[in-house]
Amino acid sequence: MSSSVALRLPSIDGLLRHPACAPLAERYGRDSLLTGLRQLLDELRPGVLSGQLAAVEIGAEVLAGRVGERLAQQQRSQVRRVFNLTGTVLHTNLGRALLPEEAIEAVQMAARYPLNLEFDLASGKRGDRDDLIEGLIRELTGAEAVTVVNNNAAAVLLTLNSLGARKEGIISRGELIEIGGAFRIPDIMARAGVRLHEVGTTNRSHARDYQAAIGPRSGLIMRVHASNYSIEGFTARVPTAELAELAHAHGLPLLEDLGSGSLLDLTRWGLPAEPTVRQALLDGADIVTFSGDKLLGGPQAGLIVGRRELIAKIKKNPLKRALRVDKLTLAALEAVLGLYRDPDRLAERLPSLRLLTRPQADIHAQAVRLQPLLADALGEVWQVSAVEALGMIGSGSQPVARLPSAALCCRPRVSKRWRGRYLLNLEAALRGLPIPVLGRIGDDALWLDLRQLDDEPAWLAQLAQLQVDR
Ligand SMILES: *Cc1c(COP(=O)(O)O)cnc(C)c1O
Repeated sequence: MSSSVALRLPSIDGLLRHPACAPLAERYGRDSLLTGLRQLLDELRPGVLSGQLAAVEIGAEVLAGRVGERLAQQQRSQVRRVFNLTGTVLHTNLGRALLPEEAIEAVQMAARYPLNLEFDLASGKRGDRDDLIEGLIRELTGAEAVTVVNNNAAAVLLTLNSLGARKEGIISRGELIEIGGAFRIPDIMARAGVRLHEVGTTNRSHARDYQAAIGPRSGLIMRVHASNYSIEGFTARVPTAELAELAHAHGLPLLEDLGSGSLLDLTRWGLPAEPTVRQALLDGADIVTFSGDKLLGGPQAGLIVGRRELIAKIKKNPLKRALRVDKLTLAALEAVLGLYRDPDRLAERLPSLRLLTRPQADIHAQAVRLQPLLADALGEVWQVSAVEALGMIGSGSQPVARLPSAALCCRPRVSKRWRGRYLLNLEAALRGLPIPVLGRIGDDALWLDLRQLDDEPAWLAQLAQLQVDR
């Protein structure tokens, strides 16, 4: 075709009938294909009119190929699996705890079939969804009653609003914390309609500070586990038991937001001590709130446990209906709680605990095994070494504690001024893999902490596709 003859785009009808498009219609549906073709032709028209496009660029095969790529891209799920090699086990941005098989099966059952979500099979009458896990929670924590909501932030909001609206909530200045994602205790209190009455100082609060704050407008005393930071040095904190005594002497409930809230003493597995829900209740807290997907190792949920009459009051709050959990969460939660009945096997069965307790020697051996393979994939420019590393629990559990781990440490063999760019390019290339690999940059290197590399075959299989820009 000579350049003096104007090019014309193929017609939609012609394209639809073309053999290269038939498989696309089959795969993505005729409507999607039609929309894709129209968009593509609209985009190409100006180039055709101005003569900037060559005939080969608008051939039917080429157009079918381009539409096919787009449709494939659109069909790909936005929710993607990733490899979390950041070193932070319960990573909030990466979905926190991984569920055990038992919970995954329970979720599938709940998704696939009708179930007794709010139906009492014994009496044939309407039931209450909280009853499905109340027995287990009582057994595992010693609490009288439980109610479950969407997450711990919701648990705190609902509890404060139910027990302290239009009254004062007394809390130590050292516990007015902010947790990631804009959860700030003073803001939540305000939204819950509770007037904040702060006592003590950032580093020290005494029983007499709380005592002086108690008056006719008091509604509750609140204690918040300072989960994501630690106060050290010249500090003082009133023990929960003493605070409970003070609260009860004035007819006030003591609310304790434990955050990560572990059900068992983690030191038994060599992990740092975290306060347990049972201990907080034994110490006299009337209500304890905690997350389902932090140290508990279950689905996202907020558990509110404690005294029966207070739980009843919380359940009557209309906000409870707005914050309630769905059937999939309850199914998973029940299955996870069930595993806690056999603590001896918990570390084998609960993924979060299994990963948290994985021995450093084991992780290091894996790093040594994988080092030559990654070095090979990255090429000469990169120095890859198997090194010891320090990870963290994450999700505000034990912010100062470090988990001894091992990593593949990748350093570019380039002058200092280029290192940053090389590292960012490697990070982007890893993120661009079919199953994105997420590590962490620090100290002029990219670190892949292997504590959570369970699925080694899938990780290795995609190494050949790694292409790092220079
Ligand atoms: C994590 C945390 C929360 C928020 O819990 P989510 O389940 O993430 O909503 C509230 N309070 C404390 C002390 C926490 O550690």
